[in-house]
Amino acid sequence: MSLADYEPVIGLEVHVQLLTRTKMFCACENRFGAEPNTLTCPVCLGLPGSLPVLNDAAVELGVRAALATGARVADRSVFSRKQYFYPDLPKGYQISQYDRPLSKDGRLGIDMPQGRREIGIERLHLEEDAGKLIHEGDGPAGASPTRVDLNRAGVPLLEIVSRPDLRSSAEAFAYLTALKHLMKYAGVSDCEMQEGSLRCDVNVSIRRRGTEPFGTRSEVKNLNSFRGAERAIEHEIGRQAAVLDAGGTLRQETRSWDPDRERTDLMRVKEGASDYRYFPEPDLPPLDVGAARIEAVRARMPEFPEARGRRFIEAMGLSPYDARILTAEKGTADFFEKAASLAVREGVKAPHKTVANWIIGPLTEAAREMKIEGGRGRLEAEPFVRLIAKVQGGTVTQTTGKELLRRAMETGEDLLEAIRSGGLARIDDADAIEAVVRDVLAKNPKAIEDYRAGKGNAITFLVGQVMKATKGKANAQAARGALESILKGAS
Ligand code: ADP
Ligand code: MG
Ligand code: ZN
Repeated sequence: MSLADYEPVIGLEVHVQLLTRTKMFCACENRFGAEPNTLTCPVCLGLPGSLPVLNDAAVELGVRAALATGARVADRSVFSRKQYFYPDLPKGYQISQYDRPLSKDGRLGIDMPQGRREIGIERLHLEEDAGKLIHEGDGPAGASPTRVDLNRAGVPLLEIVSRPDLRSSAEAFAYLTALKHLMKYAGVSDCEMQEGSLRCDVNVSIRRRGTEPFGTRSEVKNLNSFRGAERAIEHEIGRQAAVLDAGGTLRQETRSWDPDRERTDLMRVKEGASDYRYFPEPDLPPLDVGAARIEAVRARMPEFPEARGRRFIEAMGLSPYDARILTAEKGTADFFEKAASLAVREGVKAPHKTVANWIIGPLTEAAREMKIEGGRGRLEAEPFVRLIAKVQGGTVTQTTGKELLRRAMETGEDLLEAIRSGGLARIDDADAIEAVVRDVLAKNPKAIEDYRAGKGNAITFLVGQVMKATKGKANAQAARGALESILKGAS
């Protein structure tokens, strides 16, 4: 069968490190980049007799993440011990949440070329991180020791498990990008994959198109970028299809992505939950969040892009397209709101739509051409709105306005001063315009002939020449009028 006869089914497990000051169950600092083993204490070293105390800030961020994805927060959730041996796990078990997680049933919207899709989130739960192994080179055994850094042991994590709702590597990429955006926006995590504060495993299976039951999945680990995840999924789809096409059967496996060789390798045949001997953590009471606490967290949450976009549409009359663009980045949305309220005060006509148009049009275009990160450079909202008012009022032309915008983005200069001192005001004076028009006509006999021959765009060309001669400052309407009356009068 060809690859196109199979439909991929993908579910993602994403771990984000929570932006707390201290670790999950002790007072050690939660910080990246410190000297190895300087951020440890008896609790996170797993010394006998030490007892964990739950970090309230981690609960707050977990609840935030749940609310941000529209998930239900459980009245009571329970910490469990997940037991396994690994040198970076001094206690011999990880404190995690198992059958009673913090939160269930969330969702995340992704925008694909074919439209918007909602991806289900099975659950979000709290757990602690393990330490980190540092392998020193690849010399012969004994000459290249592996060391353990336990600064990361006990760092608070939130595991976010998607439903198997994704159907392509591109959707998985979009999901990761959207999740990262949302978690950063909500202040839950900085989601720096380089620093390990976002990690993901992908679960992949394939089924014959048109059939119901899911195929046997493999779980791929060791992904170090979203592109890597995308390529690993593509590879895994191909590998599984080849096994099935050859008449083989798939096992539930844990595999490791090798980015250099662009392939996955078997790590182990998948462990079942029973292998971990989960049981409720005896040293921690159940976590009772409670409705009052949930509402308090909700009240402290920032307004999310979707809600903000809806407000832009409903209260300000923007189109869904404009709202989507303006809310993609928090900085842009903030700038728009500030400028729009100033525009209302300055008496700009259709203030919201006008400001939106200037941001999405000239401002974005200039930022792209000038390669200005963040889209605004040194431009502030006040001068921006005053400029818009001047253009709308006709004091400066659209062309001059755009030029001034660029200058302000680069230098932050005072636009009104620039208009005054630079002689940039629009030329409305009829005599001045007529003088330029006559000059342009004298230099363009061919265009006059075209005009007489009835070529409609000759006049547009001539208006363009007038604008060029005045560096865009002439009142274009007036220039067109003068051209037409002179041409008609002369014929
Ligand atoms: P485990 O601990 O075994 O990894 P989890 O419940 O933590 O199990 O995660 C399972 C992940 O695998 C979820 O993201 C889920 O959506 C996904 N998944 C489950 N079944 C399939 C399948 N048949 N194909 C692809 N993904 C699947
Ligand atoms: Mg898993
Ligand atoms: Zn500690």
